Amino acid sequence: MTEFIQQCRNAIGASYVLTDKEDTFAYEQEWRQRLRGNALAVLRPASTQEVARLITICKSFGVSIVPQGGNTGLVLGSIPDTSGKSVVLSLKRLNNIRAIDTANNTLTAEAGCLLSAIQQAAAKVDRLYPLSLASEGSCTVGGNLSTNAGGTAVLRYGNARDLCLGLEVVTANGDVWDGLRGLRKDNTGYDLRDLFIGAEGTLGIITAATLKLYPAPVANMTVMVALESPEAALLLLNEASKKLGPTLTGFELISRICLQLVIKHIPSQSDPFMQQYPYYVLLETSEHQSAELAKVFIRDFLEAQLNQGHILDAVLAENLTQANALWNLRENISMAQAKEGKNIKHDISVPISSIPAFIATTNQLLAHHFAGSRVVCFGHMGDGNLHYNVSPAIGQSADVFLQSQEAVNRLVHDQVHHFHGSISAEHGLGALKREEIQRYKSLIEMNLMRSIKQALDPHNLMNPGKII
Ligand code: FAD
Repeated sequence: MTEFIQQCRNAIGASYVLTDKEDTFAYEQEWRQRLRGNALAVLRPASTQEVARLITICKSFGVSIVPQGGNTGLVLGSIPDTSGKSVVLSLKRLNNIRAIDTANNTLTAEAGCLLSAIQQAAAKVDRLYPLSLASEGSCTVGGNLSTNAGGTAVLRYGNARDLCLGLEVVTANGDVWDGLRGLRKDNTGYDLRDLFIGAEGTLGIITAATLKLYPAPVANMTVMVALESPEAALLLLNEASKKLGPTLTGFELISRICLQLVIKHIPSQSDPFMQQYPYYVLLETSEHQSAELAKVFIRDFLEAQLNQGHILDAVLAENLTQANALWNLRENISMAQAKEGKNIKHDISVPISSIPAFIATTNQLLAHHFAGSRVVCFGHMGDGNLHYNVSPAIGQSADVFLQSQEAVNRLVHDQVHHFHGSISAEHGLGALKREEIQRYKSLIEMNLMRSIKQALDPHNLMNPGKII
């Protein structure tokens, strides 16, 4: 492999080919630090042409490639296996914003640009790039598209796929496909762009993308609502969709235990309500007319919901600081749960109308089979997407509880399947859910996916062992 490393050095410069373990460590370790892979080398190209050169070299030596952006993925997709036979291809040096076209409402950026940098660049020209994730300061455009990331504004603007008009991709053959079109209509055959989006790096390397921009809202209203049950949350969602229309941008369900954990583990977080309630919804609207109008709309809406008994209480943020404080409660749930101890995570979706029944049935089954286990349920209810995590009973050793991980997964995922849902709503399959998905997707669907992989990457060099 000395010759392989030498050719990579010649292609992009010796200092961008990392082989010392202390340099490669951060690229081999996944976000939650559960697992670490072993890379033959870490390659850090700075341009599309350098990526293409490296892929051609990898192909000629039969070396497989693990593309990596911010390495914030949660399904072991962005790290290599332990064989030491793959290279990590870090896209982070491809970090230029190539163009902004305000008349077309598009921005073209390289794959390694941070999501937060895209949001800021859009804001500078008075536009909104609506993708928003808690990892936005670390994750990249290429990673967002390769995982078809969701986040908190999918309800109004859609997920990463819906926000992308064109792609530039280096294929497994080392060719550069320039599909950077800023078109909203283009019916000229198979949609290659949509194949690469959500492919988790198994079909090619995304090197740049043309993204959709939107008018920046003049005011966001954030409100936390207390409710009796998920049924009440579903009713509220329908009412909000009807009454607030397209101004409704976020609808996050939070169960009581989530708030308890945040208050317990995260300093300076407190309960915004005077008393405890079983469920909460964090609701956000974005108004394009006037801030005053936005306030009147949301106040009228909340008053009507209170009067009709649909909600039990509400706290409306009066300024940005208060809005951030409410969003912090939501954003800190994962961190608080991690501080409480190890748990079993599920990132699932079911049709929105089935959410109450899914929660009721699955909670009941868990209580029956895993007595005392605690369901930490929260997430993007407006998209039908829940983080349905299960923590051990109070006092039970987490390591003992985790021995039941497979059985808990089976129970939860079988219920998801029963309600016609998906076992991975946001994070993808990576290596973590590669085997699990075989149980729930039909053989026909799996075989169609294998055919696509075979056609685009016949030598299985692109992120092998991920998805299929
Ligand atoms: P990486 O983790 O580096 O890679 C992810 C996958 O994409 C890997 O399979 C990798 O091989 C592939 N890949 C990366 N770049 C490229 C490229 N240029 N070309 C081809 N393949 C590539 N996800 C959500 O959807 N919604 C959320 O709300 C959300 N919240 C999160 C909150 C936190 C705190 C954390 C840690 C993660 C969260 N995530 C969320 C998951 C993660 O941030 C997203 O999946 C994100 O889009 C990954 O981007 P990345 O640049 O870190 O990609």
